[in-house]
Amino acid sequence: MRGNHSGPIRYDGVKVPKRDRLGEENQGKEIIYNGVSPIYLVGLGAVWEGVARGVYDTAVNHIKNSIHQDTNKRLADYQAIRQELAKAKVHIESLGAWRRELASRLDTLWRSNSPQAELLIALTEFKVHASETANVAAAAALTVTGGYGYKKGALERYFRDARAGIGMGPSNIIARDWIGKTSVGLPLELFYEGGE
Ligand SMILES: Cc1cc2nc3c(=O)[nH]c(=O)nc-3n(C[C@H](O)[C@H](O)[C@H](O)COP(=O)(O)OP(=O)(O)OC[C@H]3O[C@@H](n4cnc5c(N)ncnc54)[C@H](O)[C@@H]3O)c2cc1C
Repeated sequence: MRGNHSGPIRYDGVKVPKRDRLGEENQGKEIIYNGVSPIYLVGLGAVWEGVARGVYDTAVNHIKNSIHQDTNKRLADYQAIRQELAKAKVHIESLGAWRRELASRLDTLWRSNSPQAELLIALTEFKVHASETANVAAAAALTVTGGYGYKKGALERYFRDARAGIGMGPSNIIARDWIGKTSVGLPLELFYEGGE
């Protein structure tokens, strides 16, 4: 996430040789619906899992080494702090098995030459859960590390990186809309007709 330089791209007067075209004029929508694999979503979810694990490990390291001078207790010696951490850890541990299962299903589809697009909603669900888990973990990390987590450094950076997961496409609002629509049998309407 740290290296992600996201921004709009505009193409003016670009000429594409015919041999490089993916299809014919006006076929773009069809190509996106049918041709693009949602496989990137498993990687995107894995990124949020990495952010969640990274922020958790960083917080654990801090609370094991930070000592209150007056009581000579480490932050890790407070039960309330350990409870906060454990809540986040349970969320984080839910991600690994789900990621591996999706990757294995993608492999099976790949080997049998079947369209991976059939996993779009399952992968979208994973992206939402992984990015929200990264936010749960980052919030817990800032709670248990107190003012230290808020200072410029690894923890505040993880917090900001975790927030990117909510907005990155498909944003979690749009993603939940797809999931809900699929549940009740409505079309996804990835594009709006008429440009209004
Ligand atoms: C770190 C990062 C990396 C990114 N990388 C890429 C990339 O590699 N490739 C790429 O193409 N894009 C990338 N994006 C862009 C990303 O896809 C968009 O930020 C995302 O789709 C939201 O679009 P927007 O920022 O224009 O927000 P807007 O469309 O202005 O949305 C603002 C808010 O409104 C909600 N919203 C939008 N439309 C609706 C609707 N119809 N109904 C209800 N709510 C709606 C959104 O969920 C969001 O909460 C990246 C973004 C980030 C933050």
